[in-house]
Amino acid sequence: MTVPIDLARELLPRLGLLVNHAEATRLNDAIEQLLREHDNGVDVDTRLVELFSSVPEIQRYVANTLTDPHIPQKTPYEPLAGDRAGSSLQRYECPYGPHTTWFRTSLSQEIPLCAEHQIPLRLVPGR
Ligand SMILES: [Zn+2]
Repeated sequence: MTVPIDLARELLPRLGLLVNHAEATRLNDAIEQLLREHDNGVDVDTRLVELFSSVPEIQRYVANTLTDPHIPQKTPYEPLAGDRAGSSLQRYECPYGPHTTWFRTSLSQEIPLCAEHQIPLRLVPGR
C-alpha cells in the first residue's frame, strides 16, 4: 500500500464535497480506473499524483491531509480499534453536520449514506 493509493481510496467518497458534480464524476472514473490497474499489479502512483495535482481543490485537500496531523488518516473500512467490551461503539455523522447520526456496533456493518446528501457518513473521532 502506498500513500497515493491510500489518498485515492480516501478521496473517492469525498469528491462530491471538493469539486462540482461533473468534475467529481470525471475524477471518480479516472481514480477507479487507476485503482483497478493497481489491483492488477500496475504502478499507478505517478499518474495518481499527476491527477491530484491537475485539480486545485484536490491538490489542496491532499496537501492538507499530508501535512495536518489532526486529520485522521483512517478510512471507515479500518477495523475497530481497541475492541474492548462496551467501548467499541463508533459514532458516524454526515460530513455536513450532525443531522444524521449512526452508531456502528459491528465490523460487518456497512457505513450508510446520509439520506439527505447521499454521501457516506464520517467517523466522529475522540469518542
Ligand atoms: Zn447529510
